[in-house]
Amino acid sequence: MRKKIIAGNWKMNLDIDAANKLYSEGLSIWPETSEDTAVMIFPPSIYLQDFIQRNNGRFEIGAQNLSPYENGAYTGEISASQLKSIGCTMVLVGHSERRILYEEHEEVLKQKIESALKHGLKVIYCCGESLTEREELRHMSKIQNQLALLKEFSINEIKSISIAYEPIWAIGTGKTASPEQASEMHDFIRKELTNLFGSEIANTTSVLYGGSCSPTNANALFKCENIDGGLIGGAALDAHSFLSIIEALE
Ligand code: PEP
Repeated sequence: MRKKIIAGNWKMNLDIDAANKLYSEGLSIWPETSEDTAVMIFPPSIYLQDFIQRNNGRFEIGAQNLSPYENGAYTGEISASQLKSIGCTMVLVGHSERRILYEEHEEVLKQKIESALKHGLKVIYCCGESLTEREELRHMSKIQNQLALLKEFSINEIKSISIAYEPIWAIGTGKTASPEQASEMHDFIRKELTNLFGSEIANTTSVLYGGSCSPTNANALFKCENIDGGLIGGAALDAHSFLSIIEALE
């Protein structure tokens, strides 16, 4: 069985009071991670340690980013071992905002995944195409190329990686992929995982949809056979909206 996952990416939002308010509300209303369904949040890194200490294992708490390096003179960076040492369990790699705004290319992403896995962090590896790539019918090959990076990892390592398909044109724009568009791509990703790693891995790897997912559209998206949950940006900044999306899984 594949684990269902709802993950909230808070990005660089919320000052301390607003972050605490959202987190406290979440602690009282979001369901705990269970065997079938994981609830995850990715707050800004300055809040990680405090949130993890207050969490009591209810949710998985992850980092939005990590350094590709082990340690040393990398001003402003946070390493996988530092994240692990404060109880962090997850990290996002390959989010389109990092690929585009910080020019994170495949080699860096590979190093980040290597470092995360080496220190026992699970990874959500994000992929997605631009509007132009979709309009020029290059969306499938774009995702295929992004997934090809995972060939660098062993079958055992792949078991610690989930995928988030996030069409760039849908992130933060209010333009969600239709269930048909999302479903077509998720079916393709599942087939690609089968080609790369065989059916056992393909059938047990969670593949999330991300891109303007909201309480209104979540249910239709999550009904698609190969969509195993969502990576949620804007709607994760409201405790009740995030709860409604978690409930839409059922
Ligand atoms: C994201 O950035 O991962 C995301 C899905 O954002 P939004 O839900 O706001 O489109």
